[in-house]
Amino acid sequence: MEKHLHELTAECESRLKAGASALDVVEHAVADMERSGLYVAGRGSAPNTAGYIELDASIMDGPTRNAGAVAAITGVVNPVSVARRVMEETPHVMLAGKGALAFAREQGLEEVADPDSYYVLPVGVYEDEIYEQKHGTVGAVALDQSGGLAAATSTGGIFGKLEGRIGDTPLIGAGTWADDDIAISCTGMGEDIIRAGGVVTIAYMIKAGATPAAAVDDMLAEVKRLGGDGGVIAVTRDSEIVMTYNSQGMKRAAVSSGKPVTVATFKD
Ligand code: ASP
Repeated sequence: MEKHLHELTAECESRLKAGASALDVVEHAVADMERSGLYVAGRGSAPNTAGYIELDASIMDGPTRNAGAVAAITGVVNPVSVARRVMEETPHVMLAGKGALAFAREQGLEEVADPDSYYVLPVGVYEDEIYEQKHGTVGAVALDQSGGLAAATSTGGIFGKLEGRIGDTPLIGAGTWADDDIAISCTGMGEDIIRAGGVVTIAYMIKAGATPAAAVDDMLAEVKRLGGDGGVIAVTRDSEIVMTYNSQGMKRAAVSSGKPVTVATFKD
């Protein structure tokens, strides 16, 4: 998995250097992780209590403030790409459930041919744990050469979740945010992230004068106070990267024009 994250991050760096937009790069990174089956998103997800897989994803473009999301979608290979089409091809921000799938079909986006053989347990999760409250998410944030910021997030949610349960990930402002100053994506107990006000609180704390690191710490402390834990990745328009968590660990990778690719899971 570290190898996968390292290679993917290096590839995203090449794309940004070649002039790709932050929006294209975050969609690419999240779609790749969704396909990998290594993380709790896309292919690596577990069924809800009704026995089938429902996925959530969102994407946001800082320069335009456009955003798209899908919630409790079934049967698509890349929920993040459906979210992007919702952003670009509809007047809406979020589609859910069977309407989201119908829209993905109409857009010709790839569907899972055989759910029974497609879905796998992500790395570190075992069969007897799929009805425990395990969870995970993938996310990406990027700053491109023209100063554009974007963020995208995708998840299989909480294992053993009730049918129809939707967490923070597809909620713009809760699991994903991008504006002219910062792009943010988060992971953790969705219910507590939502009740803490989500990642948009970080953006507004910064506007009120907090440093990015302090604002992220504050938001995560509130998630903890409410009983959950989580992690945040963010990049600012000044290229400051913040990757902080108060969960046990958070698989993460970063690269910038000044620093080579780094990959880590626990405190380093
Ligand atoms: N935030 C996700 C959710 O609640 C899960 C996670 O990030 O671990 O659906």
